[in-house]
Amino acid sequence: MLSRITHKIAGQAQLLANDFLFFAGWRKAEKIMGEPGRRILLYHGLDNIGEKKLNSRFLSAARFESQIQFLSQHTQIVSLDDYFLEKFDKQRFTVAITFDDGYRNNLHHALPVLEKYAAHATFFLTGAADHGATWLWMDFLDVVTRLAPPKIDVGGRLFYKKKWRRTQYFMDADGRRLVDWARHSPWSFVQKMEKAFIEAGAWERAETLSEYWALLSSPEIKQLTDSPYVSIGAHGYTHQDLAYLPLEEAIRELFDCKTVLEKISRKPVDALAYPFGAYTPALLDAAEKMGFTKQLAVDFIFPNDQADQRLRERLTINPYISQANQWLAVKHGRY
Ligand SMILES: [Zn+2]
Repeated sequence: MLSRITHKIAGQAQLLANDFLFFAGWRKAEKIMGEPGRRILLYHGLDNIGEKKLNSRFLSAARFESQIQFLSQHTQIVSLDDYFLEKFDKQRFTVAITFDDGYRNNLHHALPVLEKYAAHATFFLTGAADHGATWLWMDFLDVVTRLAPPKIDVGGRLFYKKKWRRTQYFMDADGRRLVDWARHSPWSFVQKMEKAFIEAGAWERAETLSEYWALLSSPEIKQLTDSPYVSIGAHGYTHQDLAYLPLEEAIRELFDCKTVLEKISRKPVDALAYPFGAYTPALLDAAEKMGFTKQLAVDFIFPNDQADQRLRERLTINPYISQANQWLAVKHGRY
């Protein structure tokens, strides 16, 4: 415990020291990003105000624009196709931009910026539009956690609302978080969980937070993919953890998602980003056979992944640190 706290304080001190070096002008982001290197960046949702308490996956639209402006000026932004094929100038820092989960706010906040700076991005979408879901279960959980009473019964198990640093979450008496229960249980548990919160009235005011959960509809997906700066890829049909599902079901998740997105966009879908970054070697093979030529993890999981040409890592953009520290993380590939 002590070493974890020491580690955390050292990490915070390092971030502050970095900020000081940038502030004093001894370190320059343009210089750091002006050197050769490459990175795939991962964004999720964008909002108006930069809300950071609901989840760690959102960034303000203004900050996103300043990042794209910086990247388009000091690096080369390429499509995921060109990134995989290495069709870029290797003397320059190269980035590919990706978005996960398919939020409606991507259309309103990300697309105009991408078009303004002629920057390409790939959006990884689920099959939600096909089965009429207007939210993903983990966003549902984030939103109801804020709006729910302090205790909830899901399938006979009690979960209690807790607060840790910036965020709130539900946890059972054994210390296991509800989000982990939902991620590692059959889909029926997720359905039970949603029903329990809806019956407790926790979803009644959710509309006020729709920016944080509303997903793209089929016509909106079509509108997004009609832009020359946009590609789309698959992100699982229901956003379940595919490494935990039986292989047959996981393959079905990928197949159904690909089929739906190709039907909506009328374009081939050959890129895949694993929900939660979770995959298995068997899934990599199955996805390749299905026609996915570009597969994306978050962090590599297995020893052979680094050399596996089918797979690439991504760096998740962090809303809690300064822009200067963000560029250092992009450069080094870690926080
Ligand atoms: Zn996701």
